Amino acid sequence: MTAPMPHFDCYIDGAFCATECRAASLDPATGEAWATFSIASVADAQRAVEAADRAFRSGAWAGRTAGQRGRLLFAIADMLAARAGELAEIETRDTGKIIRETRSQIAYVAEYYRYFGGLADKIEGAHLPIDKPDMEVTLRHEPIGVVVAIVPWNSQLFLTAVKLAPALAAGCTVVLKASEEAPAPLLAFARVIHEAGVPAGVVNIISGYGAECGRALTSHPKVARVAFTGGHATARAIIRDTAANLAATSLELGGKSPILVFADAEFTSAVNAVVGGIFAASGQSCVACSRLLVERCMHERFLEALLARVRSIRIGLPLDSSTDMGPLATRRQIECIRRILEASLGAGARLLTGGGPPEALGDALSRGFFFAPTILSCDNTAVPCAREELFGPVLTVMPFDDEADAVAKANDTDYGLAAGLFTKDLARAHRVARALRAGVVWINTYRAISPLAPFGGFGLSGYGREGGQKSVFDYLRTKAVWITTGDSPIPDPFVMR
Ligand code: NAD
Repeated sequence: MTAPMPHFDCYIDGAFCATECRAASLDPATGEAWATFSIASVADAQRAVEAADRAFRSGAWAGRTAGQRGRLLFAIADMLAARAGELAEIETRDTGKIIRETRSQIAYVAEYYRYFGGLADKIEGAHLPIDKPDMEVTLRHEPIGVVVAIVPWNSQLFLTAVKLAPALAAGCTVVLKASEEAPAPLLAFARVIHEAGVPAGVVNIISGYGAECGRALTSHPKVARVAFTGGHATARAIIRDTAANLAATSLELGGKSPILVFADAEFTSAVNAVVGGIFAASGQSCVACSRLLVERCMHERFLEALLARVRSIRIGLPLDSSTDMGPLATRRQIECIRRILEASLGAGARLLTGGGPPEALGDALSRGFFFAPTILSCDNTAVPCAREELFGPVLTVMPFDDEADAVAKANDTDYGLAAGLFTKDLARAHRVARALRAGVVWINTYRAISPLAPFGGFGLSGYGREGGQKSVFDYLRTKAVWITTGDSPIPDPFVMR
């Protein structure tokens, strides 16, 4: 007897609820349905916002002391860490991301809840020494209200934590929308929220289509803030929709991030950083280093070593812990990559490896959404593969002549999310880091994260910063409270005091 297919429901107002519509989620390794999930309609989305609004106004969350909120965040962290294995398997089945990465990433995501849990009672107001002797001003930081957090299908629990943890620490209530492409990990995370004892309505988790459910959330009059991660076309639609409620927004969007390798770089570290930077998660990472710039005098040698390392990447079942690279999350993604590859080859790029399905995968995986690690080389930044985000395992390599040329090529992009540089020259490392137009610069390392470090982009990579102490202020608004300490009556009502 075959086991029944798992099903994931939405979580609204403290209850798991089946909605009228459900859909199947495909296992990207086999191309076959492995689970079903509830799809929230416009009415369900509105119900989730209403629940969050009621929970906000009732004081069920904001009315707790900051210390109590912090302790509940610690409970979420503990429960998340305890369930990391189970959630990792769900994420791996749903997205094709390898189990080694989902396990370690989800376990680390718990640190974000710990960090913001610890921060909750360190959000201090102020007393202002103003220039009027008979008056005082105190500043209070109050929760902004109902927050809508919308995430794509990759790294959902991480992308959720950088929004949910500061929002809860601040005292906000939240509606989280998972992507319709692979919502299972986020819907499964609702169990953590429920069992940690988060009051009903404080965190609501739904999945649904962007054009219906997503729009119903972002334009809802009771929503005060929208924290979005996804593509820039969607970001523009969200900006248009938030014109209705004037909700504050933060946008974490895509990238075309470069790694710059100077001739004095520690060679093996640079090769490994590039391999991980672009081929980990099959390139489906916002910080994927999809552009490699190598100093011309070592360009050939570096490419040789890179190609040799790429040939040793083990492609296979994402649930197998020896696999390095699994499938892409969706078939649509493969079609998009093929289109940009063709246009790039037509525009003069040269294919060095890959460019299609990996060889010798075996019949079992022939229907999965696999794409071989692909490297293209080109000399100019105008070809599509050097400009457009492919969100897949495709690296474009280009030589540079000197530091100025490296920086100019690296900055010749509409995006500005991340950049990496490899050199042993400390002064140059600082100079180049200053000159790079990117929200995150990694020197002699790549793809490192911490809850303490702000993250976000320039240009088409969006605005706002997630992570770090200051990010909690995105979920607070400051109120200035004036009091007169004088006991004489107000002298002239027509003159400003
Ligand atoms: P997407 O923009 O298509 O979808 C993201 C989310 O937005 C989904 O939940 C979707 O349902 C929702 N959505 C779509 N239309 C909407 C609308 N009109 N109103 C409200 N919500 C709507 O992105 P995707 O293809 O799922 O994800 C890939 C993109 O995400 C890439 O560009 C990638 O670089 C980016 N990304 C950025 C970061 C970051 O931190 N900067 C992290 C991961 C992914």
